[in-house]
Amino acid sequence: MSQSKARRVTILGATGSVGTSTLSLIEENPGKYEVEALTANRDVDSLAAIARRVGAKLAVVADSTCYSALKTALSGSGIEAAAGDQAVVEAAGRPADLVMAAIVGAAGLHSTLAACRSGAAVAFANKECLVCAGPLMLAEVAKHGTRLLPVDSEHSAVFQVFDAARKGSVVKIILTASGGPFRTWPRARMEGASIAQAVAHPIWSMGSKISIDSATMMNKGLEIIEAHFLFGLPESQVDVVVHPQSVIHSMVEYEDGSTLAQLGTPDMRTPIAVAMAWPDRMPVSGATLDLAKIGQLTFEPADPIRFPALALARHALQMGGDAPTILNAANETAVARFLAGHIGFLDIERVVESALGTLPSMIPGSIDDVVAVDKEARLYAEDFIGTRLTRRSVSTAS
Ligand code: NDP
Repeated sequence: MSQSKARRVTILGATGSVGTSTLSLIEENPGKYEVEALTANRDVDSLAAIARRVGAKLAVVADSTCYSALKTALSGSGIEAAAGDQAVVEAAGRPADLVMAAIVGAAGLHSTLAACRSGAAVAFANKECLVCAGPLMLAEVAKHGTRLLPVDSEHSAVFQVFDAARKGSVVKIILTASGGPFRTWPRARMEGASIAQAVAHPIWSMGSKISIDSATMMNKGLEIIEAHFLFGLPESQVDVVVHPQSVIHSMVEYEDGSTLAQLGTPDMRTPIAVAMAWPDRMPVSGATLDLAKIGQLTFEPADPIRFPALALARHALQMGGDAPTILNAANETAVARFLAGHIGFLDIERVVESALGTLPSMIPGSIDDVVAVDKEARLYAEDFIGTRLTRRSVSTAS
């Protein structure tokens, strides 16, 4: 199937790292895409500038206090402005051929669901919403016949080499991990890691939340859960191997001993292009892989002792029910507090471990249940940070 008519695209999280990479591909391919709606949280200036540049029909900020600033920034452009969480959800549900779901965190849950119900194909970057509402979200996807196109580089790689018609012949998925900035650091050194050190990913340039998740390796834990839901394999059939060069983006092993891999430069524009052009391909500038120049690809086992987030995520997936929701909400809360300078780097895993071990388990029967569990886990995490971690740092100091 070739695409002749321009495809209408909506980008949720247009001002972020994935959002801007998506826009750069749209601008590199004039005439192939037209932009329906763009959303952001509160970055009015970037949103308005992007909307004007690509001629979007609608621009939305989630933070309703930013509405008048957005309206002013768009004045004279003919671009519609809107604000508020509900406006983001409505933008996601507008008729489009493709919606890029690239809001960070569970904040993207309702809009990603609206996109899944809209009839558009959904390019899926916002892994947290699948982690926190996996079975319910997949039920919506099945009900509406939504085409979910993974954007995470690992899941895009698996998507490209996974023989869905012969799933029984798959032995396992092998997700590769760069290892993040602390790949070789001992735990004692990680305890004192600064924000700047933690966000400085050695390979990928990404938003701050996913950069911290990469440093704790919670990102790989979330990806194990994401792979389980996207490809329908149990947790025991999703392996992780550390591959610092990030050239092999993931692999699928089959029962005949074949392991199929997808390789590429560590540039998010490639997996984004795979999703945007699917089932075709589109050119991506500067994406040539020079293996002779790279010379060596190396691999090492993931270390769940130095990076307990991996084991916590596996545990949450084995527990099932609301455990992944709790894991995700506690992690989001702790990462935000770390980025604000309120807690230490290793405190992130302490918050998650405590929430997972303390909060009661249930099976969410609806998205409202998921939202309630998410809220409760955030409150628990805040309380844990305010009481246990404060006391802990005082006692360490004395
Ligand atoms: P960024 O932090 O760079 O961007 C996040 C986007 O979401 C921004 O547009 C931001 O708006 C918007 N946003 C933030 N909070 C809200 C909210 N409460 N309501 C509505 N919109 C909001 O994130 P990334 O682009 O790095 O990541 C986006 C998603 O993609 C994440 O789920 C991440 O895990 C996933 N991903 C990212 C990769 C990457 O390379 N960056 C790779 C693979 C997956 P504003 O600018 O106004 O704050």
